[in-house]
Amino acid sequence: MGKRRTRITIETDQIMVARRVVSPVVAWCPKCETESGMVTLTQAALLCHVDRSAIQDWIHNGRLHVFESPETGLLVCITSLGRMSDRLWFQAIAHTGEQSSLAT
Ligand SMILES: [Zn+2]
Repeated sequence: MGKRRTRITIETDQIMVARRVVSPVVAWCPKCETESGMVTLTQAALLCHVDRSAIQDWIHNGRLHVFESPETGLLVCITSLGRMSDRLWFQAIAHTGEQSSLAT
């Protein structure tokens, strides 16, 4: 019981950090056909703990969805980013306000 609570607390802390680091823009993702959080390449690299070059590779391989506009520049869809990692907190930040999914 105590262990479980500690683990959840750590995950919650990671979400807090992720939110502060990325503060994702929400935009329409044509690949997901829904609204998704969007982050810059640098933010995506931070979230995945990889180099920006790895993120660029994933984009070139078509494994990540991208969104580009003159205002925002190139952004990466968090939902597709989440599929590259089994870390729970990607799910939680992909849709703002759905932290309750953490409890399961
Ligand atoms: Zn997407």
